[in-house]
Amino acid sequence: MAVHRFKALEEVLNRIPVNIDLPSETVSDYYGTNVFGQDSMREYLSEEAYSSVMAAIETGSRIERKMADQVAAAMKAWSKTKGVSHYTHWFQPLTGATAEKHDAFFTPIEGGKAIEKFGGDQLVQQEPDASSFPSGGIRNTFEARGYTAWDPTSPAFVIGKTLCIPTVFVSYTGEALDFKTPLLKALHGLDKAATSVCQYFDKNVSKVTATLGWEQEYFLIDTALFNARPDLIMTGRTLFGHASAKGQQLEDHYFGSIPDRATSFMRELEIESWQLGVPIKTRHNEVAPNQFECAPVFEECNLAVDHNQLLMDMMEKVARRHNFRVLLHEKPFAGINGSGKHNNWSLGTNTGKNLLSPGKTPKTNLQFLTFFINTIKAVHDNADLMRASIASANNDHRLGANEAPPAIMSIFIGSQLTQVFSELEKKVKSGKMTPDEKSALKLGIGKIPDILLDNTDRNRTSPFAFTGNKFEFRAVGSSANCAGAMTVLNAIVTDQLVHFKKDVDQLMNKGVEKDEAIFQILVDYIKSSKKILFEGNGYGEEWVKEAAKRGLNNIKTTPQALDAFVSPKTLQLFERNQVMSAREQEARHAIYLETYTKKIQIESRIIGDLSLNQIIPTAIRYQNLLIDNVYRMKELFNSSEFKSNALTQLEMIKEISERISVIKTSVDEMTEERKKANGIEDHKKQAVAYCEKVKPYFEKIRYNTDKLELIIEDELWPLPKYRELLFTK
Ligand code: ADP
Ligand code: MG
Repeated sequence: MAVHRFKALEEVLNRIPVNIDLPSETVSDYYGTNVFGQDSMREYLSEEAYSSVMAAIETGSRIERKMADQVAAAMKAWSKTKGVSHYTHWFQPLTGATAEKHDAFFTPIEGGKAIEKFGGDQLVQQEPDASSFPSGGIRNTFEARGYTAWDPTSPAFVIGKTLCIPTVFVSYTGEALDFKTPLLKALHGLDKAATSVCQYFDKNVSKVTATLGWEQEYFLIDTALFNARPDLIMTGRTLFGHASAKGQQLEDHYFGSIPDRATSFMRELEIESWQLGVPIKTRHNEVAPNQFECAPVFEECNLAVDHNQLLMDMMEKVARRHNFRVLLHEKPFAGINGSGKHNNWSLGTNTGKNLLSPGKTPKTNLQFLTFFINTIKAVHDNADLMRASIASANNDHRLGANEAPPAIMSIFIGSQLTQVFSELEKKVKSGKMTPDEKSALKLGIGKIPDILLDNTDRNRTSPFAFTGNKFEFRAVGSSANCAGAMTVLNAIVTDQLVHFKKDVDQLMNKGVEKDEAIFQILVDYIKSSKKILFEGNGYGEEWVKEAAKRGLNNIKTTPQALDAFVSPKTLQLFERNQVMSAREQEARHAIYLETYTKKIQIESRIIGDLSLNQIIPTAIRYQNLLIDNVYRMKELFNSSEFKSNALTQLEMIKEISERISVIKTSVDEMTEERKKANGIEDHKKQAVAYCEKVKPYFEKIRYNTDKLELIIEDELWPLPKYRELLFTK
């Protein structure tokens, strides 16, 4: 039975805030207590085993089975102190969520007894019954099952009474079935490529790590209201709902204090995060009502991805305890800002240097410019792939919707660095430079840190912006696994750095001095990638025109955007850098298309169901009231009085009939289109059919439903309205 919204509202008004027990210790006392991190490892592992794990983390070396046995024993002993009974391999299948299969530690033995058993075998590898995870055909063709394998670079942690072991998820033939496997490979490649480029500047660099700091946006909606909206329950977004009289125009939520109930949710989320070593640092309101954001201190990319996945899981759990539901969907409400997940990305060295932060000397600034310009070139050359990396049915609502970055990839670098670029173009010559020219050049780049210090210009409309010491990929969706975007970004930068090294070495082999060679190649890159740099308003119509003139793509929908994943260029890039084989990438493409199709299919079904089972019946009920009223008027008035007095009612009756008719006809037509689309075998064609034939009905049905919401008696309307979802506290 659908819950009427009045019942739900009553529940909300009677809510008693949930009190949480605040730990009496300070954060530093309980930070990371639920993580089998370095401290616990030191305590529970032999020196040898500890070094073996640390070497795996730092250099990617293999951990021998004997050591794995020791680590397993140590993990078990440590978890025992936390009262843990089960363990699980925790992994990130391509569905976007995280998955786990819990196994008990105990094993039955003779005599009706049991012992606790957890050895290297159980730690290193496990077969989840995974036949229902998407595999794009890989597993079906080769093997029925995939297996999970321990990722020692991300520490195990305890949630409740379960020890969670971060793992990769691969098929028996070794193909990646998850987000983590290709990310780890991309990060490994990046380390090698970037370290070798660093050798031009600093021989002490032996490792380069990609860093990620994400900013997670989300909405909090009361559970009772959520439960009264089948569309929210089933799709995570409202498929109907007229805008409320007040929206976000006053921006009073953004500047307001965080409401008590939300604060209490956040505090509990933070405490749990800190115990799990997730370094959540900031929290604030976002632009839309009931919208919030939290962000951690940045970390090594793979760990940051795991922590974001973990945080999203915890948000769900903690929210329920506070009678909230958390909406991670990119666009839960029409006409209200959607949610994103900015991915702040940079590169750090083992010597403690941020490679995207200008230094104090011309030498370190040449290093900065090298990584800065190579990143720009990588994004320029692979803009479509970057676009593909953030494509999803959900994110289609956001990109280009004048509140989120456009679907056109561009890079904002700020006016000062633009100035530096044009100076470089002017000063760097392809022939030999005179000593004077060289020192002028070096003097010029030596000034970068000073100018960046007062670089306050920020561009909120750019999908990929340089923010002083990092790039911010702002087009990532709020529900996405960051690994999707991060795998692509790290892989294309890897590929670019390898090219760069070759280009510079080639010039040096021809006798060009190192710094000059670097300058020349960088200026070449600036020239060839310049068209992707854009400082203006990314939301404006002018930019759409200007971008077209520049030859930048504006790919509006997911089925089309995903093409870039399987272009020969991408397949070669991934293979060349050992991130993914063509087969893996093609399988992934198929999965993403299927996911798209399923999402639109589900939304379409819910729209149909709600229209026929709730909206139209409600409209008819109200229409009957009006008809009744008209009949009574007829009895009451003489015929000329009746004509003038019943006019409004008659018009309303007519309008309701018309809207019902449009809704019903559209639902029927949409269902027919769905049937046709379901018969299409080819994944791409099917996704396109859902996008171009099925989805256009959503707007039409919604428009008419929302108009009905405006005229139908408030008491009768079954679904919580926007004002209630967004403003009831
Ligand atoms: P804002 O961008 O709002 O000014 P910050 O500069 O503090 O705020 O950073 C926002 C996000 O960027 C945070 O998650 C932060 O951890 C992350 N960040 C900062 N420096 C780096 C870095 N070197 N690499 C990756 N992320 C970073
Ligand atoms: Mg930001």
